Amino acid sequence: HGGFDGAFTDRWLRRFAASATALEPELTALDQQVGDGDFGINLCAGLGAALAALDRLPPGGGPDAAAPLAAAATAFLDEVGGTSGPLFGLVFQELAAAAGPILTTPALAAGAAAGLAAVQRVGEAEPGDKTLVDALDPAVRELRRCPPDTLPDRALRAASDGAWEGVRSTARLRARRGRASYLGDRAVGIADPGAVGVGLLFASAGREVPA
Ligand code: ADP
Ligand code: MG
Ligand code: MG
Repeated sequence: HGGFDGAFTDRWLRRFAASATALEPELTALDQQVGDGDFGINLCAGLGAALAALDRLPPGGGPDAAAPLAAAATAFLDEVGGTSGPLFGLVFQELAAAAGPILTTPALAAGAAAGLAAVQRVGEAEPGDKTLVDALDPAVRELRRCPPDTLPDRALRAASDGAWEGVRSTARLRARRGRASYLGDRAVGIADPGAVGVGLLFASAGREVPA
């Protein structure tokens, strides 16, 4: 097949935008319960800006797998407020930096790991603090477990499984970072919205094998 080039990352981001838009009311409802209610708006604003940037690239995202990811990074870093906007921007920035013209599973694993490191450097959250780190960390672990010749769509499916397990774990936790930490026990039972966003990111990738 033609490999996982810009057309693949372009489709990945467009599917992420579609799933986040479809679930915006649920994301909003979660952040209303454990935060200030704007997570769905922040994520969809970033993805709207990312889609506009994708439309300015050559059709199909161009030949380079990194270009759509870099466009998304710039959109989130430059245009989204809230805590989550810059954190998603860092993840996309590191994925873009690791992806060459063709996306491989080792590059994905390296990029996602660097994204996790950047998020933790900035936000200082550890696994178990009930943040999006709880979804990103197991996703990175699954990507790293994949043999190097695993097709990226398959690796991303494994990452998605890990991320959703992490999302479910956040519902059992008290928050130690972010606005939910002000709620103490009242946030127990409710999943972290940012973690759900990371789950959607990985779930949006692995459904389709590029031609
Ligand atoms: P805000 O609280 O500024 O309104 P958003 O609603 O955009 O931010 O994003 C909230 C999400 O950000 C949370 O659900 C959580 O996943 C994530 N988050 C908050 N603080 C941190 C942190 N220190 N490190 C990592 N993620 C964090
Ligand atoms: Mg919020
Ligand atoms: Mg806010």
